[in-house]
Amino acid sequence: MKRKAIGEQLLQKDIRPSFPRLRVMEYLFKNRNHPTVDEIYRELVQEMPTLSKTTVYNTLALFEEAGLVRRVASSENEARYDAFIEDHGHFRCESCGVLYDFTIRLEKAEEEGLDNFEIRKRDILYQGLCPRCRNSGIKKLIIDKGGYR
Ligand SMILES: [Zn+2]
Ligand SMILES: [Zn+2]
Repeated sequence: MKRKAIGEQLLQKDIRPSFPRLRVMEYLFKNRNHPTVDEIYRELVQEMPTLSKTTVYNTLALFEEAGLVRRVASSENEARYDAFIEDHGHFRCESCGVLYDFTIRLEKAEEEGLDNFEIRKRDILYQGLCPRCRNSGIKKLIIDKGGYR
């Protein structure tokens, strides 16, 4: 997304498109790897030496409030952010820690026991091993076994 379009998107939500805000949003659109506050800060502080981590944190909180970004549910302590806000699930690899996006049709999900609840957010988090880690695990096993001969 172009910077001008991002600025318009912020204005639509009554958010003043200051330079740090534009850059945080731009970063999230370019980096679909669900970055943490720290990762965003470390990258952007290089071009904005006066940027503080608090600014990044507050900017993300503001975007989340406006529904522009989602905080990803994860078992880690550190929050991760996503500018891809359409419903999708996340798969967290327990070995490399990468969060993968996957498509899931939430309208087909059948919930029970939520009558009279107001649903505001749905988080789908799967965990396990990604194909790359699975393969390297198998290879390691073969090498280990070979070592016994
Ligand atoms: Zn992995
Ligand atoms: Zn995602």
